[in-house]
This record gives sequence, C-alpha cells and structure tokens, in this order.
Amino acid sequence: MENSSNCIPLCSTESKKQDTICIFGTGDFGRSLGFKMLQCGYTIIFGSRNTKSNFLPKWAEVLSHSEAAEKSSIIIVAVHREQYHFLADLTDILKGKVLVDVSNNLKINQYPESNAEYLAKMIPGANVVKAFNTVSAWSLQSGTVDASRQVFLCGDDTKSKQMVMDIVRALGLTPLDQGSLLAANEVENYPLQLFPMWRLPMYICTGFTVLIFLYCVLTEVINPYATTREDTSYLIAISIPNRVFPIVSLILLALVYLPGIIAAILQLFRGTKYSRFPNWLDQWMLCRKQLGLVALAYAFLHAIYTLVMPIRYYVRWWSNKYLILQVTTNTTYPFLNYYAWLSDSYVALGILGFFFYVLLGITSLPSVSNAVNWREFRFVQSKLGYLTLVLCTAHTLVYGGDRFIYGPFYKWYLPPAFVVSLIIPCAVLVMKFIIVIPCLDKRITKIRQGWERNPSCQGALNTDINKTSV
Ligand code: NAP
Repeated sequence: MENSSNCIPLCSTESKKQDTICIFGTGDFGRSLGFKMLQCGYTIIFGSRNTKSNFLPKWAEVLSHSEAAEKSSIIIVAVHREQYHFLADLTDILKGKVLVDVSNNLKINQYPESNAEYLAKMIPGANVVKAFNTVSAWSLQSGTVDASRQVFLCGDDTKSKQMVMDIVRALGLTPLDQGSLLAANEVENYPLQLFPMWRLPMYICTGFTVLIFLYCVLTEVINPYATTREDTSYLIAISIPNRVFPIVSLILLALVYLPGIIAAILQLFRGTKYSRFPNWLDQWMLCRKQLGLVALAYAFLHAIYTLVMPIRYYVRWWSNKYLILQVTTNTTYPFLNYYAWLSDSYVALGILGFFFYVLLGITSLPSVSNAVNWREFRFVQSKLGYLTLVLCTAHTLVYGGDRFIYGPFYKWYLPPAFVVSLIIPCAVLVMKFIIVIPCLDKRITKIRQGWERNPSCQGALNTDINKTSV
C-alpha cells in the first residue's frame, strides 16, 4: 500500500489537540490508522524494529518499541499475532497501559483462544481492548464514507474501553461495545465470515434453479427433438429462464412462510412454546428475510425478461404467421371474451403481485424497518406477505388456465413446469388457511402467550426455551 502523502488534510471532526497515541508496527494498517489519527489531531508515535526505514511516512515520529511505549498510555498493536513474542520483553513498560489489539486471523477459530486473550495472558499487567479489526486499512485511507463505519470493541477494563471508544468516535467511526474480552473471539470472527445468513438461501435457490431449468430443458427442448426432431434449443436463451425465474421466485416466497406454519403445527402438537425447535427449523426461520430477497430478485428478472417479449424474433414470427394464416384462408378469428379476461387477469395479478413483492422488499431494509413499530412490521411482512403469495399463486393459476387439462402440455406424462411450481405455494396456503380457523388460531395464540397443555413439564422444559420468533 502506498504511503499517505505529506500534506495532511483536516479531519472532518473538530481538530483540537488530542492525546499522544503509540502504534506498534509501521505496516499497512499501522500507517493508515496513524495517518487518520493524525488528521484528527492526535500526536502519533510509532514503535518499530527499524526506525530508519524508507517506508516510514515523513510525518511520523518513529522510535524503538520501548521508547515509543514510554510516551503514551495507549498502545495500538498493529502487528500480526504470530509476531507478538517481542512484546514479552516490554512487560514492565506496558504495565497499566491500554493495549489495543487490532489483529485478525486467516481462518475462523484458528487458535484455541482469541488473539486479544492471548495478548492479555502474555502481558497480564496491561488492559487489553480488542478494537479496529473490522475496519480495513483501505477504508481508513479512502475515507470512512465508502465503507463500514462500525468498530466492534470489547475489553475487561471499562475505563480503558471508554478511552478507545473516544478515539473511535473522534475518527468519525461508530463504536459498538461487545462486552468483556470473552467476546473477542466473536469479534475476530466477524471479518472472516462470508455472507453467513445468505448461504442457506443461496443453496436452496441454486438447487431449485438447476432442477427447474433441467426439467424445462427436458420437456421443452429434449422432448420435441426426441419425438418430432424439432429443434427448439433457442428457447434456452429467454423462454426457459423466463419460466425458471418466476417458478423459483414463487417457490422461495412460499418457503419464506412455510417454516412459520411448521413451527405453529409443532407448537400445537406439543401444546407448548417452551420446547426447542429442531435446528434445521431454527436455521430456516433465521434466513427468511434473505430467502425473500432472493425471491424478489428472481421476480425482477422475470419482469425484465417479460418486457423483451415483443422484440423477440420468435414471437414476431409467430404473430406474423398467425396474421398471414388469416389472410390466406380469408378468415378472421373471433374475439373471445373469455381469453381477453384470462390474459388481462393474468397480467393484472402479476403486476399487483410484483408491486407487493417490492413493498415487502422495501420494508425489509433496515432504514425502513427501523421507522415502523413491531406491529406494523408484522402486518407488512405477514399479512401483505401472504397477500403477495396469494396474488403470485393466482397469477400462475390463471396463466395455467386451459393448459392444466391440455394433453400436449404433458410431455412424457410429466406435468408442465408451472404445475410443479404450484405444489409448495398451494400447500402453504392450504395449511395457513387451516391454522387460521378460529379454534386452532385461538389455541396457537394462547400457546404463544405462555399457555401449556401440560404445565407439570414446564420446569424441565424451561431450560430449553426457544427464543426464535415465529
Ligand atoms: P503488515 O503490513 O504486514 O505490517 C505488520 C507490521 O508488523 C510490520 O510492518 C512490522 O512493523 C511489524 N512486524 C513484522 N514482523 C515483526 C516482528 N517479528 N516483530 C515485531 N514487529 C513485527 O500488516 P498489516 O496489514 O499492517 O496488519 C497489522 C495488523 O493489523 C494485523 O494483526 C492485521 O490482522 C490487523 N489488521 C489489518 C487490516 C488491514 O486492512 N491491513 C485490517 C484490520 C486489522 P515494523 O517494521 O515497523 O516493526
């Protein structure tokens, strides 16, 4: 990484004279953090193995580790954990000082104890605070506006933690106190996680996409070729994806609501809410927002693919052929009210379904969900969510229309893809319809308010309280 320039722009926060901070290590992170702190009015002293290196910024005062540590009560250790051994010689100097551990590892849970706890054990007299590991050297250099501004920190000494939090705020970042040093392991794992909540939705989505795509290729490309030698492979570019996207989108939307129904059935069956759900159900419920957002993305793709229909060669060719056929046979096909209703209803249901889909997506944005209360959020996500599912299922049912009973659509006795797509959504809607029957709905509400069919078991079950919201 390039050294920061000699010219130091003013910090966005007030540039009053701040404390002196010592930074061990003049690598990428140490230099970036040092420069940012200097902008914000701090005096920076680096502790380094080599005080004469060409890499060192011209604005920096660089001393040996021990000399630098003497000059400040806060020392930021911008060195990899594997090199911490040099700190053992500085135990006396570091006594009573605040040691800020910024280190990250290469793998999640790489060591039995967190780097910060390891540092605290190595220098027992120092007050170790874990901080800054979730901000990158790049974001410190390029300006915090472009990147996450959150600095997770933890430590056992409240006063030391407060001092570090003040520095974080002075840099224009947001400190998030995670508690004692026991939380350091979790804080160190944050930057190593790769979309943890998105993994399951992405697996489900990819699985359904591949399955439905292969199903469509089998029934719409391989079947015509095998039976009549007709080449319909051109359908793979637009027609088949435009079948896959709405089908997977509808299935995923249904899968957002299915775990809530399974949970309600489980609670009804067990007669209590104080019993743990199976792990797979917990995981499934936790990723419902992400499932819904993937479903929305697929609905968007369906809308865009549908818009290009009129400019497709294949569509224009068929419409011209239809026209020419009427001219050459001197006939005018009659206007059928039934089909006019069917096609308009299909499009109207699709548009309305898409509108509510987008509304659901918007309300799941943190800035919007923070502005509504819990009841409003539940109303949108549950009531409007089910309305969206009803509209999209109806859109598919109307699209099916006569096709449900039209023999040629059943290739090799396989139902058309849109029929397959309706299985899960219809099952979800039927189950929902059953559990909102007043006698069942009342019982579920009572259970969720703490009622138990067999209260004698409560003591044993209370240890297993399920905290997942349904
Ligand atoms: P780096 O560029 O490799 O710098 C590490 C520095 O440690 C070196 O410049 C060196 O400074 C010092 N060092 C190396 N070997 C040493 C030894 N045997 N004894 C004493 N000091 C030694 O690494 P970095 O990217 O700045 O990262 C430093 C720490 O910040 C790491 O723990 C990293 O996980 C953490 N971090 C980095 C980033 C980032 O974006 N880079 C983000 C968050 C956290 P001297 O030559 O001056 O002694």
